[in-house]
Amino acid sequence: PPALVVEGLRKTYPNGTEALKGVSFTVEEGEFFGLLGPNGAGKTTLISILGGLATASVGRLSVCGLDLHKNKRAAARRLGIVPQEITFDPFLTVRETLRFQSGYWGLSGNDRWIGEILERLGLSDKADRRMNALSGGMKRRVLVAQALVHRPRIIVLDEPTAGVDVELRESLWSFIGELHAAGATVILTTHYLQEAQAMCGRIAIMNKGELAALERTEDLLSRF
Ligand code: ADP
Ligand code: ADP
Repeated sequence: PPALVVEGLRKTYPNGTEALKGVSFTVEEGEFFGLLGPNGAGKTTLISILGGLATASVGRLSVCGLDLHKNKRAAARRLGIVPQEITFDPFLTVRETLRFQSGYWGLSGNDRWIGEILERLGLSDKADRRMNALSGGMKRRVLVAQALVHRPRIIVLDEPTAGVDVELRESLWSFIGELHAAGATVILTTHYLQEAQAMCGRIAIMNKGELAALERTEDLLSRF
């Protein structure tokens, strides 16, 4: 089955804002897929629905063939979502935060993988620091680390490089690139065409809650 099927997704917020007006697309397994669009396009709303933080007004989402509403946990297990912001327990250390997340997924003995994630994201020397003692940039690294703890099939990054230092950007892309090469599907939202162009095989462009285009990156670029 495809990694992600989005069918007729609509979302109207209680104040009447139509953030998604019937969006449909499919992401195949193993793709590196870009979701582009200006602020307000509906990208974060779509990711929030995928992550279970918001519910669609109408439409269907399926993840690796699993309907997101009927098989919530099994579908979530296949997703590693790196949101734009999250609140951590301030008193846990970095390593405890990742172990806690492992526990949420029912994983034990995950310390080797956790150690590798910490290493690859430049967090090893911060592993025993409490979350409330970390800089904003380091917290963003933990946000990425947390999403990878259960080795998700699909990695979803919501504006991962907004306000992020060059060093993290580089280690992030090399690590994500390797996970993709090893078989993970990657979905990236960004409002930078350059970033999407460098990484993504296909790009969907959203605007005002609708899908404006969906093409292979080279075809899209040939028109500019
Ligand atoms: P993007 O991530 O592409 O910038 P969003 O999904 O954040 O787009 O926003 C899409 C539209 O929905 C915008 O008009 C935004 O103002 C609106 N919106 C987002 N969240 C809410 C909310 N909680 N309540 C009302 N409107 C919202
Ligand atoms: P519950 O369904 O038990 O209420 P929550 O939605 O509160 O679970 O999530 C608990 C933890 O699991 C949080 O740290 C959250 O970030 C994480 N989580 C939930 N869904 C996902 C997902 N799809 N990918 C990664 N982490 C997730």
